[in-house]
Amino acid sequence: MGRPSFLHPFAKPASEEFIEIVAGEGALVRDRNGHAYVDALASLWYCNVGHGRREIADAVAAQMHRLEAFHTFDKFTNPAADQLCHEVAGVAPMNDARVFLTSSGSEAVDSAIKIARAAHATAGSSQRSVVISREPSYHGVTFGGLAATGLPANQARFGSMLPDVVHTQKDDLDAVAAVFAEHGERVAAVIAEPVVGAAGVYPPRPGYLSGLRELCDTYGAWLILDEVITGFGRLGHWFGAQYYGVRPDLITFAKGITSGYLPLGGVVVGDAVLAAFNHEPDFILRHGHTYSGHPTACAAALANLAILRDEKLIERAPSLGERLATGLRSLEARGAVADVRGDGAVWAVGLHQGADASAVRDAMLSRGVIARPIGADTIAFCPPLVITDEQIDQCVDAVGQAVETARP
Ligand code: PMP
Repeated sequence: MGRPSFLHPFAKPASEEFIEIVAGEGALVRDRNGHAYVDALASLWYCNVGHGRREIADAVAAQMHRLEAFHTFDKFTNPAADQLCHEVAGVAPMNDARVFLTSSGSEAVDSAIKIARAAHATAGSSQRSVVISREPSYHGVTFGGLAATGLPANQARFGSMLPDVVHTQKDDLDAVAAVFAEHGERVAAVIAEPVVGAAGVYPPRPGYLSGLRELCDTYGAWLILDEVITGFGRLGHWFGAQYYGVRPDLITFAKGITSGYLPLGGVVVGDAVLAAFNHEPDFILRHGHTYSGHPTACAAALANLAILRDEKLIERAPSLGERLATGLRSLEARGAVADVRGDGAVWAVGLHQGADASAVRDAMLSRGVIARPIGADTIAFCPPLVITDEQIDQCVDAVGQAVETARP
């Protein structure tokens, strides 16, 4: 197909050849011409329960028929939003948490930064506005999410960013400690993805996340874990916080909460932050979206969480990840790729210098696998948690053959 009429987000294929995806089932999607592809990135890191789930479609239809939407401002709520927030709070690694709902991950990050600053201000520390993030990282496209994002190229051309956001280098705990030493009284929060995702797939070095926790405790700052990719099963737990054994104050989520069936995101707010608001943030914040708590999106999320639980898909993440990692490491052992990185069920291969990740992506497409190129040298894998063993092996074979054909 030629150029579509919508403005294509992020990079477009150099060939200007677009592929129209029209159907999907499990870890497979099909294009307009009937070609099947293994969806090795769960679309954009979100389709944890796989495509074509009738249970979710039915739950969405039933909610639409009952009540498509009603707002949650002022005195109003709805059963789907209430139940969803209750369930999410129940699986999050915080005590007595409450949940703020958005429609996307970027909005969740903006909301978390605002909640973090507002909680300090409400408790009397209005000078706390510094947010420490890292490079590389990806936190979204709204001005808050973009300011937190540690990819300078994404920020270029958009003018001034949110002030008071400081970036340190990946895994450099000393650098974070130095920022605290200089600005301790002014730091509102540290934000980090448990595993850096869209900025290249980098698991944390051991001790990094717990070190952030300690620094936050020492200086009275909040720890925000951005779990937009790692939340809802990717690392074999509901949240990456549980996998790495670190206690966050705030968690941002999106993607896996509905497996992408409808747009939804949010922030889990833990008891310490709620206490700073005297447990009454609702009317203090002056912050909420038209679609916060959208019942139909929440119905999709509830059906999605039921599938994750009933089919024990979260428990499956480590073993499928291990099979994928073993396959990718065999490519590394024979010198086909430069390195293999990841954790749980999110992995990447680093390509040898001079490689062209987009060319590798194209060569994989012709072998029936959709994976994501990141920069020039990385191919990422984040498959639906229902992917079969054969499909995992197909992904490994495809990238192994693709690096040969796309060799510079
Ligand atoms: N945070 C992280 C960790 C993400 O991976 C993403 C999206 N890739 C976002 C935030 C932004 O989410 P959205 O695209 O839904 O705005």
